[in-house]
Amino acid sequence: MKIEELYQCFLQCSSICTDTRKIEPNSLFFALKGDNFDANTFAAEALTKGALFVVIDDKKYFTDENKMLLVPDSLRALQGLANYHRIQLGLPIIALTGSNGKTTTKELINAVLSQQYQTKATVGNLNNHIGVPLTLLSFNEDTDIGIVEMGANHQKEIEMLCRIAQPDFGYITNFGKAHLEGFGGTEGVIKGKSELYQYLEQNEKTAFVNLDDPIQDEKTKNITRYTFSQKGNSNVVIQSVSANPMVKIGVENITIQSHLIGIYNANNINAAISIGNYFNVPTEAIKTAIENYIPSNNRSQLIEKNGNHIILDAYNANPSSMTAALENFAQLEDGSKIAILGDMFELGTESLKEHQNIVSLVSHTPEIKTYFIGKDFFASKIDQPHLHFFSSFDDFTHSFQNEIPKAHTILIKGSRGMALERTLELL
Ligand code: ATP
Ligand code: MG
Repeated sequence: MKIEELYQCFLQCSSICTDTRKIEPNSLFFALKGDNFDANTFAAEALTKGALFVVIDDKKYFTDENKMLLVPDSLRALQGLANYHRIQLGLPIIALTGSNGKTTTKELINAVLSQQYQTKATVGNLNNHIGVPLTLLSFNEDTDIGIVEMGANHQKEIEMLCRIAQPDFGYITNFGKAHLEGFGGTEGVIKGKSELYQYLEQNEKTAFVNLDDPIQDEKTKNITRYTFSQKGNSNVVIQSVSANPMVKIGVENITIQSHLIGIYNANNINAAISIGNYFNVPTEAIKTAIENYIPSNNRSQLIEKNGNHIILDAYNANPSSMTAALENFAQLEDGSKIAILGDMFELGTESLKEHQNIVSLVSHTPEIKTYFIGKDFFASKIDQPHLHFFSSFDDFTHSFQNEIPKAHTILIKGSRGMALERTLELL
């Protein structure tokens, strides 16, 4: 089947579906394969449930000549269609990647640009080889600017996502210690994420760059770039940044006070300011957008409960975001502080060492009573009166429920799989 034919079918549909449990009427269903399923087996069911067409890649299930589109590979068909659609629309696309802060930055950029443009952005965290095509296919004739989050946990993934999305602009949040396992260490992360820069360079596109990060500066020397920095000598100059605990930023003699917690969010905000500036969004509108943005999904949320100030950051964790969160926490001038930290996943052979580094960091802040939860933190146990180690959440609960704090500032952070938001029920 030719891409043009598939595209004609797509144009007749009102949405795309990949899950028969969420079929919408008049949708285009793609039968994808996973480790434990083959959606070809659900193709007929998708039609019964209201899909207008289904794309399948297994002849065995081809039962309807008018409504089934047989392709060699459904996933590739989805990606090819997304790329074709992107080219037909010809709209400017901003791609974002990096180890930490992609979703937050994407949401801030979207908030800023939507002050002046019709924008569409990645929904939630749909940032992989399926999510990126779905995001592109959500853009339409009315979309002025598309914003695409790209996630990766191994080499060549960003390169592939760039081929599909063909971004005109790119921004890398940071090179941190996330997915060390798949990338092959820190150098591997830099190489993998830089595939976005390579794409921009080869195709003469533009990078938004945080010049205060020397590696980013170095990697983008040959690319057309629009820069921000706190040191000056950049397109956008950030005059001041403070966390108390919300991030406050001075730019062009305007002060922006965000709802975000954690000084690491400063760069996420700075990127959104710069991109807004590049696209001529008035500074006042940029300020309004950032000040009105409230994070969701356990991501850097400030919660008041039973007299405690809780900084809930249980959405995910890796060594760089954990270090940033702890350094920020240590700087807060609030009275009694408690940290509840969960294991960081997907670190491969570096895992134990990285957990030990975090324990060592916290060992220097005796004023912060710290609870460590999870197998790797437990294996990094050291003997200090302010540090407490538990190998499981149940063990932690058992001990913690006898010492529920009052009037404390409490940081909660761990990998998604640790689900540390459960702690809220104890507080
Ligand atoms: P994912 O890989 O899950 O898509 P992400 O890159 O989209 O993550 P966010 O969801 O925006 O990142 O933020 C996740 C966490 O990363 C935040 O809660 C915060 O702890 C940390 N974080 C956010 N921005 C930064 C940053 N610029 N530098 C370091 N850590 C950050
Ligand atoms: Mg994300």
